[in-house]
Formats: sequence, C-alpha cells, structure tokens
Amino acid sequence: MSFTDQIIKREKSEALFEEAKQYFPGGVNSPVRAFKSVSGPPLFIKEGQGCRITDEDDNQFIDFCCSWGPLILGHNNALIRERVIETVKKGTSFGTPNRLGNELGKLILHHHPYIDKIRFVSSGTEAVMSALRLARGVTGKSKVIKFEGCYHGHVDSLLVKAGSGLATFGVSTSAGIPEAFAKETIVIPLNQPEALEKALKEHANETACVIMEPVPANNGLLLQDRSFLQYVRQQCTAHGVLLIFDEVISGFRVGFSGAAGYYDIQPDILTFGKIIGGGMPVGAYAASHEIMGHIAPDGPVYQAGTLSANPVAMAAGLAALEQLIQEDFYERMAQKTHRFVETIEQFCLDRGYEISFPHIGSIFWIAFSNERILASDQIDPAGMEKFKVLHHELLQRGVYLGPSGYEVGFVSAAHTDADLDEAAEKICESLEVVF
Ligand code: PLP
Repeated sequence: MSFTDQIIKREKSEALFEEAKQYFPGGVNSPVRAFKSVSGPPLFIKEGQGCRITDEDDNQFIDFCCSWGPLILGHNNALIRERVIETVKKGTSFGTPNRLGNELGKLILHHHPYIDKIRFVSSGTEAVMSALRLARGVTGKSKVIKFEGCYHGHVDSLLVKAGSGLATFGVSTSAGIPEAFAKETIVIPLNQPEALEKALKEHANETACVIMEPVPANNGLLLQDRSFLQYVRQQCTAHGVLLIFDEVISGFRVGFSGAAGYYDIQPDILTFGKIIGGGMPVGAYAASHEIMGHIAPDGPVYQAGTLSANPVAMAAGLAALEQLIQEDFYERMAQKTHRFVETIEQFCLDRGYEISFPHIGSIFWIAFSNERILASDQIDPAGMEKFKVLHHELLQRGVYLGPSGYEVGFVSAAHTDADLDEAAEKICESLEVVF
C-alpha cells in the first residue's frame, strides 16, 4: 500500500495554511479541517458550483463532503442564492420577529408530522444544548443517557466516552469539562438493549432523557435496526424518560421528516441543524405543544439568541426546504446514491476486497470491513490507514471526501448520474492502489 506521487498542486493551499497557523489554533476554526488524519495540508476552497469545488490552486473536485452535510442541493444553488441576495439587500438582522421566520416555521411544521412547535437557533450544538435544558426542565431530572459513538456537537456534558463495562458514567474526552458535568452523562453502547435496560433500571429516577442520533453518522455510519430504535422508544416511555432524536444530520436528509419519519418513531424532542439553514448557520429544536410550552417566554426554561431566526438565514432555509418538498425528491436521492454505491461495491466484490459501503438515503460510508458494523467498538482502526491512502489517491483524481475515515459522505441533488459514474470510476481506480 503506497501513495501515488503527488500530482495536484497544493502550493497556494500550503502557503495559506502556514499563514492561518499564525491566526487560528492549529490553523483552523474547526479541528477536523486540519487534515490531521490524512496526508498533506488542508485544501483552501475558493468556490463551489453544483457538486464540484475548486481550491486556491485551481484543482477541481467532485465533492462528497458538501460542507459536512448542509448542502443537499449542492453548492451555490441558484434559488437559495437569489433569495439570500434579495433578503440581504433589506438588512441582515433586526433582533425582532420577521415574516421569513414564520414562513420557514410554517413550512417545516406543515410537512413534519412528528412536531407541533419549533424554535430556531444558530447551530446544531446550540440546538442540542437547548434540547437538553428543555428535557431537564420538563422532567426536573438531570442525568442524560447517550450512546457511544454518537456525536451531539461540542456540548460540555456530551463530550464523553464510555469506559469499560456495560454502562459507565462519562469520562470527558475534552479538557475543560468539569468532572461534575461529565458525571451527569451515562454512556452506553449502541445496539445493546440490555445496556439500556440496565441504565434505565438503575438511573431512570434521576435521568431526564436519552439522546441519540437515530442514524448514527459521526463515527462511521452505524445503522441500527428499527427494532432497536423502537425498543429505545418503548423503554423511555416505560421509565418516564424523554427521548431526543438528534437529527442534525438525518433531519431533512433521509426524508423531509428525517429518521423519525423514515423509521416512523415518535421522539419527544428533535434537534436539527445543517440542511435546515440551506448553508447558513441555523439549528432548531422542536417537540409537541405541551413540551415546547416549557420554553420562555411561555414557560420557565430560558433560551435565547441575538441572531436566532435572522431573515437572511431564514431565507436560505426556506429556499432550500421548498425544493425538498418536491415530489419524489428523496426517492430520487436514495436511488442514485444506491446505484453509485452498488457500482463500487460490485467492483470490490469481484476483486475480493475487504470493504463495504453502508448507506441510507443520500448518506454513505466507506467501511474497511465486510461485516455489518453496528457499534463503534467494531470499527477496526487499521481501516483508517487504508482510508488515508484512499483519500490521497482520490484527491489526485479529483474526488473530495471529508478528511477522516470516520466521516460519512453525502450525495447532493447536484450530483448527476454522470458525475456519480465519474466518481465511482475514480474511487475504483483508487481502491486498486489501496488494496
Ligand atoms: N449533532 C449531530 C448529530 C451532528 O452531526 C453535529 C455536527 O456535526 C452536531 C450535533 C453539532 O452541530 P454544529 O456543528 O452545527 O454545532
């Protein structure tokens, strides 16, 4: 396994990264952007059109990162761009209610049968943080159960990993988090009903909520059986614990009503981010009338935001979501993603490569294993070395994946079948170097 010689130019990205290191910790404003798990300096992207991005050295790539998920319509979508420009001409933020906020709220609630009321915030992390406070406010309890391998943003009490044993109190994976906060979190493995049962049996009387990514997509793509998700729902109900579906990735991605709709499971609170803002910084949390009635100013749970639901962000979200309610949108996305993945899978099968491509809707993951992976401890770290070679080979050939083997890929509506055929061919060529 060795790298093909560097062919693409990276001089300008390299120089900009050196400069960025003077300004930002590690040269970046979000850690994974530093390309620590793959080779070379990070690419400085200057432009995106459709499914392609161009870097400062004028290399072009078919993009499967799509800004980590928000760009389900591809880069520089014309309707979003026009609506944003039209809105921005009238001012960017007033700190007052505005009509576009109403329109986006109405559109979402009309097409999403699992929620009655929504509150807009400015990021997925903020949505999760607010949802936890709401769950604690509603139940009067403080502990949270989360699943190992599910990421919920950089909320203090959720940056925890499991220790040994079936259920453990969280130990923080980041410095700067008081032990007391981490202790409020109980971490259990995915796909193990007995772990949930034990945690709830012992701690239900002090636990406000169970939070999960119903489509766990931050540590590979750990697709759960619907029966497990149903079990989680039943157990939460039985123990008087709220269930939060963190749909920051899956919301508006695996269907307009996200994983709740895909699996037809009613959570108590949902969190959103990414797609909901059409590429602008928007998050949201939503629930029934009754639960949302606890939020200020109606109720005692405080949550606020200077730029929440600003008209520019609302305009982008509205222009995006209006395109997603078109008939067959999600069927078409799922079909073309499946076809793309199957082409590569068949190539690998013919050659006996140890690799598989779990996918759901327009999300896919490259797993260096032929086993179905349901929990994070089943991921072989050796696969990450293979991913590093694959990532490098793909950059040489004009395909961009997120710079970590634990990250999923996203197909957008702007990826045509021809684009996907081109990408599949390049992925197959690159895999021949990897194996
Ligand atoms: N929840 C999930 C499931 C996510 O994937 C992410 C980010 O990737 C977040 C929360 C945090 O969202 P943000 O990065 O917008 O704060």
